[in-house]
Amino acid sequence: MTTNAALLARRQQAVPRALTHATNAYAHHAKNAEIWDVEGRRYVDFAGGIAVLNTGHCHPKIMAAATEQMGRFTHSCVQVLAYEPYVELAERLNALAPFKGPARTIFFTTGAEAVENAVKIARVATGRSGIIAFAGAFHGRTILTSALTGKTLPYKRGFGPFPPEIYHVPFPIEHHGVTVADSLRALEYLFRSDIEPSRVAAIMIEPIQGEGGFYEAPTELLQALRKICDQHGILLVSDEVQSGFARTGKMFGIEHSGVEPDLITVAKSLAGGFPLSGVIGRDAIMQAAEPGGLGGTYAGNPIACAAALAVLDVIAEEKLCERANVIGARIKDRLTAIAHRNTTLPIGAIRGPGAMIGFEIFKDRGGMVPDPEATKRVTTRALEEGLVLLSCGVFANVIRVLVPLTVEDHVLEEGLSMLERALAA
Ligand code: PMP
Repeated sequence: MTTNAALLARRQQAVPRALTHATNAYAHHAKNAEIWDVEGRRYVDFAGGIAVLNTGHCHPKIMAAATEQMGRFTHSCVQVLAYEPYVELAERLNALAPFKGPARTIFFTTGAEAVENAVKIARVATGRSGIIAFAGAFHGRTILTSALTGKTLPYKRGFGPFPPEIYHVPFPIEHHGVTVADSLRALEYLFRSDIEPSRVAAIMIEPIQGEGGFYEAPTELLQALRKICDQHGILLVSDEVQSGFARTGKMFGIEHSGVEPDLITVAKSLAGGFPLSGVIGRDAIMQAAEPGGLGGTYAGNPIACAAALAVLDVIAEEKLCERANVIGARIKDRLTAIAHRNTTLPIGAIRGPGAMIGFEIFKDRGGMVPDPEATKRVTTRALEEGLVLLSCGVFANVIRVLVPLTVEDHVLEEGLSMLERALAA
């Protein structure tokens, strides 16, 4: 039997250091919200493969759908011989699209690829080039999506030059000193100083920032952006790669605001662990690109499409939107109790819709100064307790919970007790 240490040593010889790892455990097998390493140690999984496993590890229905497809064929290339799971999945996502009127969907493989294609679609549909994103945003690691990502280190340093016509405005986080009015004023200045609105193709926003720190875009901001977009013929793109598929208590995060986007990008939990992403958009916008302009050899892989159809069934049958609210409330109650205790680290700003829960670790009780070192210690301690836990945030002081929405009650409680011990002062 191999060990985690042996694999780590081999990894250090074989793989570049740029690929970081939140833990030194090497996965062997997993089931729902539990994962076992190569040494047989069991962990409760509060990371869900970074928001990919809203339906848990190896859900029997999803595995059965994928296995069935695998027995028939694994690849034909949708541009050569298309297949029903692709078409059916597009139909089902079109019906779920969070805007009125007809929709179309095209599939890719990774979240970054979906974002890249949303940019291509927005540009060809508007005949404009400018894209506005937000500070702290994460949209991917390709050159274009690194440019859209609103964080320099580690995502941009040394990788430029980046494509032109990408701009950022501050994302409002009141307790870190940026209000909605500040963001909107910055956008107004941007229109005056760098790019006039008539050259802007799209404004891209995560309705709940993921890697940036689980900060929810205030409804007021989303409404204002919708108005500005309508006024100037700009498209509003909601990046739902992390916030999609019931995580927030709705199918898509933006639905909480009632604001209707023009394009949305999806990936991660769409296919329950199989690589699949997509762009869902309004019919006329999605039809703008010439035949052949969008696609990819592996884009919309049939096994992943079959799995995604089962994911949508599981979300509906197991009422995972409702379940997200129940799980989220339990996590928040537990965290609120912990925050009032003097025996744990100073935590606060407990937040998030549904089960997209984040909270911050501060230097002092009642203060707002981020403590990234303490946050790192908490995730390390959590792993020692047997809990896979992720941090995030522009200040690296946010703990995020992305537990599968299918988690059994007792496993959730067990994980929360581990989290509580990891937060001990
Ligand atoms: N957009 C958002 C909101 C994300 O959270 C991520 C991944 N964390 C991406 C895009 C990029 O997805 P991928 O890593 O699959 O390219």
